[in-house]
Amino acid sequence: MIELQEITKKYGSKVVLDDISEKIETGEFFVILGPSGAGKSTLLKIMAGIEKPDKGRIIVDGKDITNLPPEKRNIAMVFQNYALYPNMTVYDNIAFPLKMKHIKKEEIDKKVKRVAELLKISDILNMPVTRISGGQQQRVALARAIVREPSFYLLDEPLSNLDARVRLIARGELKRIQKELNGTFIYVTHDQKEAMSLADRIAVLHEGKFEQVGKPDELYEFPKTKWVAEFIGEFP
Ligand code: ATP
Ligand code: MG
Repeated sequence: MIELQEITKKYGSKVVLDDISEKIETGEFFVILGPSGAGKSTLLKIMAGIEKPDKGRIIVDGKDITNLPPEKRNIAMVFQNYALYPNMTVYDNIAFPLKMKHIKKEEIDKKVKRVAELLKISDILNMPVTRISGGQQQRVALARAIVREPSFYLLDEPLSNLDARVRLIARGELKRIQKELNGTFIYVTHDQKEAMSLADRIAVLHEGKFEQVGKPDELYEFPKTKWVAEFIGEFP
């Protein structure tokens, strides 16, 4: 379980995150939904350890990780621009984090092939990443994250670069993979539909606070505030 305790972050005098507390269960698909500029990426960066909160703590399975650097947090991040290594094949991109850990070659090979199967990219392992499609690149980025067996996943609008049709397919795949891994996914989006179709629970981020946290149908049927009602009701 991940516990956010009183997370507060200011940039200058602007309060971006205002005393956020929430518990995220192991194996949960937790979506942070909010408009542009709401502070979604900031919150994810704080969880990743890339940004420091001004106040508050992050507890993972009872352990305080607030002051741990990113590389000691055992997390996986997948961002909007996948940042694959352009001069490498798909295989080497996925294997890279394991090579850094000095894992044996045969062991790496087993892990890469297993994750490739899970993501259905076994047939493109030898391709240079510059020659594969956006949707395939997104899978490779996810594969590279999964292969490290992180304790949780942070995903910041990972599908937003894909065209509508591919995005829909990728969404379904992502959900399948999350279930198969029983992974704890924390997923940021400004897209209401995406949130509704993926989430076990959605946290609506507005003016630095989780204005409402609940199951998709709860938010839809019983919005707590006018703002939530309007924001959730906005999707076409
Ligand atoms: P989007 O949907 O557009 O990605 P977001 O919800 O991810 O938006 P953030 O990137 O977290 O929003 O930014 C929240 C607010 O904090 C914005 O007003 C932004 O301008 C500000 N901000 C973010 N990073 C910094 C920074 N390094 N320095 C100063 N202000 C920042
Ligand atoms: Mg963002």
